[in-house]
Amino acid sequence: MAKTSDYFETYMYPELVERREKLQDATRSRPADPGLTRLLAEVDAALSRIEEGSFGRCETCHDPIEEDRLRADPLLRFCLDHLSPSQQKDLEEDLEAAARVQRALVPAPKLEVPGWHFAFHYEPAGVVSGDCCDLFTPDGRKDEIFFVFGDVSGKGVSAAMLMSNLHATFRSLAAAGLPLPTLVEQANRIFRSTSLSRTFATLVVGRLSTCGKAEICNAGHCPPILVRGSEVETIAPTGLPIGTFYSCHYEATRVTLEPGDTLLLYTDGITEARNAEGEEFGAGRLEEMVGQLGGSPAPEFVSRVLDSVRDHLGRIPKADDLSLFVLQRPVEPAN
Ligand SMILES: [Zn+2]
Repeated sequence: MAKTSDYFETYMYPELVERREKLQDATRSRPADPGLTRLLAEVDAALSRIEEGSFGRCETCHDPIEEDRLRADPLLRFCLDHLSPSQQKDLEEDLEAAARVQRALVPAPKLEVPGWHFAFHYEPAGVVSGDCCDLFTPDGRKDEIFFVFGDVSGKGVSAAMLMSNLHATFRSLAAAGLPLPTLVEQANRIFRSTSLSRTFATLVVGRLSTCGKAEICNAGHCPPILVRGSEVETIAPTGLPIGTFYSCHYEATRVTLEPGDTLLLYTDGITEARNAEGEEFGAGRLEEMVGQLGGSPAPEFVSRVLDSVRDHLGRIPKADDLSLFVLQRPVEPAN
């Protein structure tokens, strides 16, 4: 875990020293506050652990403490397996609250978007997910629909909260009527300014017109698959993952979907699902399979791909979130 301790020495140590100074200021004005005194002792202990090289190890089993938890709380002393009952209860409550927030962020299944059918599946590997799946019409703009789909790096509550953050950023920026690449560039700068240095998100952001035109920015995400009859094409990335650098340039791919055409988006939990032999499901298999589904209704794309991934996994539990999103032009005119 050399990388982890380098990271904490370089970034966390000075940050903790700074927080310690603030705490000392607060202790001077409220010397009788036992909470502040205890916190100061905990910060001192964490600084000593960094100096001694024992930082980030569980005091019970001496295994490394989960890195995303340590980033959120550098004062931690125990791994998830060795929490006290009250710490365990707090954690469960936090996770449950985060899961509730997330469940409210996916599109309502009964949502109607003019000119399009859609279907999706959103399945966290744990209680919460770092995957993002959103479809919405910005306020006052009934003629266009936006979608945001992708995956935030990392796991657990921190990834889930970053995902919620991105969700809100895109929803507020979309109402401003900016060109799509500019919107993604702004979202990237906001994300970069507000998140930790090693987090990023691979996203596909799209703007749809009610008549089938789609403008798509693929920020380093698995290429969406466009299915026309039995023909399959993919939409390659048009920029780096969100959060890679502060200034990133994005371009948009423009496609027009005819009635019956389908756009399928997925996260790498689908293509990287491994069976007992260690073999990945793979993008090639997915493309071949959706080519054979051309012309099927949107929900069938979702259910058939999931069935196939689950068959592939067999008894092996999934290691990552599984998310799929299907947008389709109805064969019947929408109005
Ligand atoms: Zn432990």
